[in-house]
Amino acid sequence: MDYRRLGASGLALSALSLGAWTTFGSGIGRGAARDLVAAAWDHGINFFDNAEGYANGEAERVMGDVIADLRLPRDGFAVSSKVMFGSAADPLPMQRGLSRKHVHDACHGALRRLRVDYLDLYFCHRPDPDVPVAETVAAMDALIRQGKVLYWGTSEWPAALVREAHAVARAHHWHAPSMEQPQYNLLHRRRVELEYAPLYAEFGMGTTVWSPLASGLLTGKYGAGIPADSRLGRDADLARMVIEGEEGEGDRVARAQRFAALAAELGVAPAALAIAWCLRNPHVSTVLLGASRVAQLLENLGALALARELDDAAFARAEAVTAR
Ligand code: NDP
Repeated sequence: MDYRRLGASGLALSALSLGAWTTFGSGIGRGAARDLVAAAWDHGINFFDNAEGYANGEAERVMGDVIADLRLPRDGFAVSSKVMFGSAADPLPMQRGLSRKHVHDACHGALRRLRVDYLDLYFCHRPDPDVPVAETVAAMDALIRQGKVLYWGTSEWPAALVREAHAVARAHHWHAPSMEQPQYNLLHRRRVELEYAPLYAEFGMGTTVWSPLASGLLTGKYGAGIPADSRLGRDADLARMVIEGEEGEGDRVARAQRFAALAAELGVAPAALAIAWCLRNPHVSTVLLGASRVAQLLENLGALALARELDDAAFARAEAVTAR
């Protein structure tokens, strides 16, 4: 495993980390989740990502349970949560969003579910247009001063709002966000590479990037339709979103299939190549992996070697074949 600092902070996260979305507490059983955390830990992964909203809190419950079961040393791993969407199936108005109250309550809920005394990383899962940014920054600062959170950050906030959070923090001597959690993969590059470009040097922001495989699209397994035993096969709404992508992202399945053909030509697993490409970006602090079984995780860990061994020309070809 390689380790990278989270932006300008002193925290060294594994360059590959493990997330719980659509798997822990929903798509996979407790035994498979335990096997994944154990395999990740054995291969040097020290960061496990979660959110209050994943499987309505069940993802955090399962992760907390298996981490306790495996007796991982609390000073050797980092765990995150995210606040915004609530953990109830149908949250009441106060049970969601980025108000001081919900940021506070959600943190304590995550601590209970994950069975830890503090969160290493705590993210605002999206912006909340109904709450002043200063209120959220103050709430995060309070949790840090109480020792309940070590680093706070944002996820998919527009760069201008990240900048506003920093300005407010500086003005009040509050803790500023240390990291962003954006989507980043060969089919979705603009925010990390262009919109956030000024934030890295100016504010020392790190990034914990998500969906390096575009939910599995970049493995090439969706080229001949949607297999029933796959993430998109289990969720038709998600399938539509992942396949269509955002406006201007073109035919994402065709782009992914060209990429899978290139990986075959290079003799490497498409998943490992896609993740290796993310690792090549120096502004990426850690790439969050998702996996529904250990074999996938092991294949994806091959990205570390590919990032070191493949030359620039191979990655340039990956960019060319996935261009819109
Ligand atoms: P990926 O894009 O890597 O998708 C992972 C999924 O792809 C797996 O669950 C599996 O699904 C499939 N897969 C993985 N490896 C392979 C392989 N080698 N061969 C074939 N299929 C494979 O990452 P995620 O979308 O899961 O994102 C990673 C993490 O990022 C999440 O767990 C979460 O913690 C975080 N995240 C954060 C978000 C945010 O808003 N902040 C949003 C989304 C994710 P299957 O086998 O079921 O097809």
